[in-house]
Amino acid sequence: MSEEKKSLNFLEQIIEEDLATGLAKNKLRFRFPPEPNGYLHIGHAASICLNFGLGETYNAPVNLRFDDTNPAKEEQEYVDAIKKDIQWLGFKWDKELYSSDYFQQLYDWAILLINKEKAYVDNQSSAQIAEQKGTPTESGSNSPFRNQTIEENLALFEKMKNGDFEEGSHVLRAKIDMKSTNMLMRDPIIYRVLKESHHRTGNDWNIYPMYDWAHGESDYIEQISHSICTLEFKHHRELYDWFLDQIYDPKNLRPKQREFARRNLSYTVMSKRKLLQLVEENMVSGWDDPRMPTISGLRRRGYTAKSIRNFSETAGISKRDNVVDIALLEFHIKNELNKTAPRVMAVLNPVKVIITNYPERKEEILIAENNPEDENAGSREVSFSREIYIEKEDFREQANKKFFRLKLDKEVRLKNAYIIKANSVVKDNNGEITEIHCTYDEDSKSGSGSEASKRKVKGTIHWVSIKHAIQAEVRLYDRLFTDEAPDSHKDKDFKEFINPDSLKIIKKAFIEPSLKSSKIGDTMQFQRIGYFNVDTDSTSENLVFNRTVPLRDSWAKKEQKNHN
Ligand code: ATP
Ligand code: MG
Repeated sequence: MSEEKKSLNFLEQIIEEDLATGLAKNKLRFRFPPEPNGYLHIGHAASICLNFGLGETYNAPVNLRFDDTNPAKEEQEYVDAIKKDIQWLGFKWDKELYSSDYFQQLYDWAILLINKEKAYVDNQSSAQIAEQKGTPTESGSNSPFRNQTIEENLALFEKMKNGDFEEGSHVLRAKIDMKSTNMLMRDPIIYRVLKESHHRTGNDWNIYPMYDWAHGESDYIEQISHSICTLEFKHHRELYDWFLDQIYDPKNLRPKQREFARRNLSYTVMSKRKLLQLVEENMVSGWDDPRMPTISGLRRRGYTAKSIRNFSETAGISKRDNVVDIALLEFHIKNELNKTAPRVMAVLNPVKVIITNYPERKEEILIAENNPEDENAGSREVSFSREIYIEKEDFREQANKKFFRLKLDKEVRLKNAYIIKANSVVKDNNGEITEIHCTYDEDSKSGSGSEASKRKVKGTIHWVSIKHAIQAEVRLYDRLFTDEAPDSHKDKDFKEFINPDSLKIIKKAFIEPSLKSSKIGDTMQFQRIGYFNVDTDSTSENLVFNRTVPLRDSWAKKEQKNHN
């Protein structure tokens, strides 16, 4: 660690201090504690990379603990998806654990609290309880049930457990201090009646523990040295410590809660509740819709585990809330794919070009470099013939000097092929161009070494041979929201900011034949367009490509430099 001379983040500094003041290194243990009520998102990735990263740095175990204390919202589907995503990110947990495994222990400790006169059953309504809670500037008042005897409390708690009470009628509260300046310390609820079936414990329990009670005590059971959570739990730390005080045995390690700022990302929402709304209201195709900020959505979109880990590392961890620009995430995937993704040609919005001086039946196999950024990437064969498709946007009958693509009476280079010149167009009754008639310079073949092959023309455009091209579906994804912070508007629902153009489907795009055997998940660069991958909907009969991220840099300039 210190050999690497990496500067320590504030959590690592805390750990280093603990090690320096007597904590044995082999006592270090971390956990990642997702609630299985949704899929993991890029914010969770921050917490995963942080906790598992600490595990790697200190060679310490990291538990995966499902925080499953709220049966109404939790499902096995989510458990499975969470495990898949963490593994995909490349991390290994030590033990797979569930808060629900501790329900009996948590219950026994609740009895202990009652016996110590530190907890009581309150049978007021939640409204009455809230009323007595006070405000941050005014003390609360004691519940009339606060001084019940131990025996009364034990009997009532037993009934809660047995299902004798209705939901909302009784709660178990910790007896702390209704005058505390920390509202959370004003006799917080530890158990509530919930007659829900749990995804693991079925109908065994009619009461379920609250987060604060379950979380700290689970950390203690697992002997987690540093329980890292997000900033909104800062005020909970006092309660976390109070709960530990009630059961802590100095023979054991005492877990420590520390907080860091949530990872927020621009142009998206990150709460699972809101993501679930998008799924349930069919605004996206599912949790793994490529526009979702979920790990599974990003994976389907073409993001790699490495790009997400690199992003997390660069964004870093912070003590204060902040918003990271989504462009940083896009930068990381572009940067990686630039080095790894093979270049191919695809025409998304085709117009036909006929090269009138190219022999009718002739076909040629041209050699194209797979990746100029990777000398080991090799090359491939691309078929050329008299009729090709180019992008409609790459041709204009007339254009100013800044238009470096094809225009009438001017030349352009076809990528990996010849220089062509546009001579005339054919239009349909609506005035739409249906054919562009060109001639080619036979001596200008790329890489042939001839004088003409070195001839400089202003632009290079991509193309596919009509005879050889394969038809495919291309899904152009864009940001899901038009607003930088869609859920920050008080008077507007975040869904009002959904980008109506976040998905454009092209059913009939034409791709070069080398892509015929593409497999789901393969990544590639459609030259001059962007980075793409093969979607999970893809079949050998109907290939489907997703745009991961467009190429926004001036491809044409770089391309000319690299040419020949
Ligand atoms: P959400 O608000 O999205 O539902 P959550 O906090 O309820 O998130 P959990 O499943 O409880 O989701 O989170 C598991 C762990 O991931 C927790 O330790 C939590 O603090 C952390 N986490 C969740 N969201 C973020 C985020 N945006 N940035 C960093 N860590 C996060
Ligand atoms: Mg949570």
